[in-house]
Amino acid sequence: MRKFKKLLFKLVLLFAFIAGCILVYNAFTFSSLQIRIEPIENIEIDDNAVQRFTKALSYPTISNQSKVDTQAFRNLDTFIEKTYPLLDSLLDKEIVNQFSRIYKWQGKNPKLEPILLMAHMDVVPVEEGSLKDWEEAPFSGKIKDGFIWGRGTMDDKFSVFSIIEAVNLLLKTDYIPERTIYLAFGHDEEVGGRNGAKSIAKLFEKRGIRFEFVLDEGGMVLNNAMGGLDAPLAMIGLSEKGYVTLSITANLKEGGHSSIPPKTTAVGLLSESIYKLNQNPFPAKIDGAVGQMFNFIGPEMSFFHKMLFSNLWATEGLILSNLSNENTSNALVRTTIAPTMLRGGFKDNVLPTKASAKINFRILPGETVESVQQYVREVIDDNQVIVSVSGEGNVTEPSPVSSTEAFGFQILHTTIREIFPEAVVAPSLVVGGTDGRHFTNVSDNVYRFIPLHCDKVDTKRFHGLNERVRVENYKNAIRFYQRLILNACR
Ligand SMILES: [Zn+2]
Repeated sequence: MRKFKKLLFKLVLLFAFIAGCILVYNAFTFSSLQIRIEPIENIEIDDNAVQRFTKALSYPTISNQSKVDTQAFRNLDTFIEKTYPLLDSLLDKEIVNQFSRIYKWQGKNPKLEPILLMAHMDVVPVEEGSLKDWEEAPFSGKIKDGFIWGRGTMDDKFSVFSIIEAVNLLLKTDYIPERTIYLAFGHDEEVGGRNGAKSIAKLFEKRGIRFEFVLDEGGMVLNNAMGGLDAPLAMIGLSEKGYVTLSITANLKEGGHSSIPPKTTAVGLLSESIYKLNQNPFPAKIDGAVGQMFNFIGPEMSFFHKMLFSNLWATEGLILSNLSNENTSNALVRTTIAPTMLRGGFKDNVLPTKASAKINFRILPGETVESVQQYVREVIDDNQVIVSVSGEGNVTEPSPVSSTEAFGFQILHTTIREIFPEAVVAPSLVVGGTDGRHFTNVSDNVYRFIPLHCDKVDTKRFHGLNERVRVENYKNAIRFYQRLILNACR
């Protein structure tokens, strides 16, 4: 018996040694996927470009759920036309649903598929009562402490105007692109993009126009993006999560007097159902865009983290439980469940027969609206509870995952490394929604990235207080789009 125990102990040691060797070997051979580039000289950007941006920020082109501030959009239109006359005279312009715009810049070589650069001109409202918390008024376009302040400085006039400035710079040098370049600026992204981006995408589809790649907002360059990575992280969204809100209704045959309540009431049953969902989150996984993300980031990390990410066969559980602990990373690895609205009862001493909740789900690629409903029914497992798709929001399946091998990704990767040489580039998954999702029918390669460089904590400023961008970052954004056009036409 002792002999056997000794042998077993030796075997365990041997296995541990072999596993250790594999872990270390995989970490050493986890090679970098970053494109090596020759440093480029930054072009000079005039301070007037920044002044023009501050003016554009002063138009409150707010998307409210119920109405559009038509005057603000009209003023912004006039501003663009007056300020950038070359765009109107040298590019073909088309207005869609009053305020969205498409520009077509004809290329020399008709054999090359065009590319599409997108952004949206509308912004979210400023919460009532929060004005006093803004360091500079949200529509002042003030420059202070090296920052440009105001709604739209991050989301998404930042991209609209840096794209326009980049094109304008090239037009001034009589540059004619090799391939056709389209620009599309929607006016209602913040309320779903139905009249803007969605209509524009339909137009392209009807005309049979297909794009080599489409670039919309999404990922950005973040400092302190994750533990173990010292460099800023530039994330290119390959895909975005799907969206559905489900109505969960507890339906009982009898209501009655609250003085003699039965064991189960509609309100109780509904609460139980929500509790069950909270206790049974969707399974977490590392695959698709997120799997690829770690293949790009892992090799650039400390040795310990390299070992973790190059050995998912052994470490996946540990990594997933770590990612699940933080809201942002949790949303990357699973379909999320967010109860948002409750309704039930009409008087404090009457038992209602019905109680219902709206629960918002953001669906991971690989799952569907249908499979989410199926899962919810299985978890609740009670035929007195009805699960159905609610009319709230736009029901959207997760978008297809664009390739990291395609020309568009390579060009984006190269351009990011040219303009932000210290950054590590990685594909990623966009957990919110962008206009980009409407374009998957006109291109296999829809990417989501804006050349915004900020700290991870600054992402709170999106849709929040004190939205701002560094002046130098705005200049870099112009350089980025100028370079991107040149690189895509080489
Ligand atoms: Zn946006």
